[in-house]
Amino acid sequence: MADRSFNPFEMAQKQFDAVAEKLRLDEGTRELLRFPLREYHFSIPVKMDDGTTKVFRGFRVQHNDARGPAKGGIRFHPQETADTVRALSMWMTWKCAVVDIPLGGGKGGVICDPHNLSSREQEGICRGWVRQVAKNVGPLSDVPAPDVMTSGQHMLWMLDEYEAIRGEKMPGFITGKPLGMGGSQGRTEATGYGCIYTLREALSLLGIDIANTTASVQGFGNVAQYAVQLYHQYGGRVICVSCWDQQDQTSYSYRKMDGIDLDFLRSITDRFGGIDKRKAQEAGYELLPAEAWIEQEVDVLIPAAIENQINGETVKQIKDSVKVIVEGANGPTTLEADAVIRQKGIFIIPDFLANAGGVTCSYFEQVQCNMNFYWEKDEVLQRLDQKMTSAFHAVAALAKKRNEYMRDAAYMISIQRVAEACRMRGWI
Ligand code: NAD
Repeated sequence: MADRSFNPFEMAQKQFDAVAEKLRLDEGTRELLRFPLREYHFSIPVKMDDGTTKVFRGFRVQHNDARGPAKGGIRFHPQETADTVRALSMWMTWKCAVVDIPLGGGKGGVICDPHNLSSREQEGICRGWVRQVAKNVGPLSDVPAPDVMTSGQHMLWMLDEYEAIRGEKMPGFITGKPLGMGGSQGRTEATGYGCIYTLREALSLLGIDIANTTASVQGFGNVAQYAVQLYHQYGGRVICVSCWDQQDQTSYSYRKMDGIDLDFLRSITDRFGGIDKRKAQEAGYELLPAEAWIEQEVDVLIPAAIENQINGETVKQIKDSVKVIVEGANGPTTLEADAVIRQKGIFIIPDFLANAGGVTCSYFEQVQCNMNFYWEKDEVLQRLDQKMTSAFHAVAALAKKRNEYMRDAAYMISIQRVAEACRMRGWI
């Protein structure tokens, strides 16, 4: 279970501080980059289906926009906090910089649980969110996108509200839109595929044939499912996935030693990435406790659910067989666990590099919206592969040259790029 006392923003700042020290950044630059430039906190009143009014708390945080408009998703989550959104917005700044796209970092959220909300009520939250921040976001300033428990449908309600307020069509305001409505081919696959493009390169550097490897995955939502899909296409075998069980309010791991059947599991999974445990067990999947996914004798671990999952306790369960950890989720590893992974010499592909495929494809979506001309899926995925592969190799080369941990090398590249943009703008 997630540790509620864990503060992701403190973790993001500590990660930043350690690298700022290595880079000998001056005090002013550190002060600027360790906090968001701007943040908005607001109330969203929504008329519920039963006639009552409920007020939801919403956030938008713009960490840094020196390299271009802020960019980042909007999460709907019952445990959303301002500090979670701050941390995620900071990671977005590093993420856009590491893949070298001309965007900054932002993030948004609403404290709510879509499991318990009708479609009409969710639409009310989306439109209310936009009404509260329409003045402060836009295609040239801050571009939202889907994230945990939000989808293309949510984005379209938000776009519709934004365009109604602005009185013109502005598809570049938001990304992750459905196909045919300004969305890009490949966006659904992008984050999961991006993880596997970087994994493919990491294994190749380590001299390991991906087709001879096995993996265990935490999560079975958008990122996890498409990561499994491409990993299977490359010949790898996933033996375990895990997900949250809404009914029991806990998570379970589902294991099949000869490899999970992705199509079957998808067919018994709800839109929140929750697997029907009865049907899975009937089909021969072992139902194991929440943490079992991390205890598997595999080559690759892919945490692709939520933050703070590899912590001081769970890290002890990682088997010696594990050679690579691909952080599909944002912030899945605590600082304490990270020190253990570093010391064990496991090759880590840090979150803001591994899962940058989503924002890279969102950037492609904006480019296509601006041209009003849309690429075929193969073209999008080919461009995505190129971006992810070259970002991976830039980080791996620096890590090798300076004998740095992969996470530190990725931070060094990103922070230097953002600091340089701030300097050139005359901010520092
Ligand atoms: P999602 O909502 O589609 O899926 C989340 C999955 O995690 C679900 O299967 C859910 O059951 C599972 N889960 C939730 N709590 C869990 C727990 N305690 N234990 C085990 N499983 C649990 O979300 P997603 O879009 O796949 O995002 C997953 C992660 O990747 C998040 O950290 C998100 O911020 C990050 N991310 C997503 C994207 C994207 O494009 N979707 C991009 C970058 C980063």
